[in-house]
Amino acid sequence: MGRRRKRRKKLLIRRPTMPTVFRCPNCEMEALTVEINKKERNEFGYYKAIIRCGNCGLYAEMWVPPIYQPVDVYHKFLDEFVKGTAKYEIRKEAAAGKAGGEKRLSLEELLEGEEHEMEGEGS
Ligand SMILES: [Zn+2]
Repeated sequence: MGRRRKRRKKLLIRRPTMPTVFRCPNCEMEALTVEINKKERNEFGYYKAIIRCGNCGLYAEMWVPPIYQPVDVYHKFLDEFVKGTAKYEIRKEAAAGKAGGEKRLSLEELLEGEEHEMEGEGS
């Protein structure tokens, strides 16, 4: 018989938070928002993305290809942040309060935690 074994499903981690709120690499709070401004385009047709943390006041701007989703912008920013090439500033007036991070997660854990396997949905 040609019956195939059931494929093992990968566990999907669903988070209660909105998909456009991410963990800030600077203060490690889930307060980082990514906004893609489709009205502002550069000469390559890239959109301007704004990365902002509501906790520590981190602020960054980045040009991204039109196919980018906020999560892609986040990963790109994280990548540059880790490498030390990210351009950002800390806008203190935008910060709601003190930066208090009791949670300690390494950046590697952060990155891994964000990569969800989408396999096995719907088909
Ligand atoms: Zn922050």
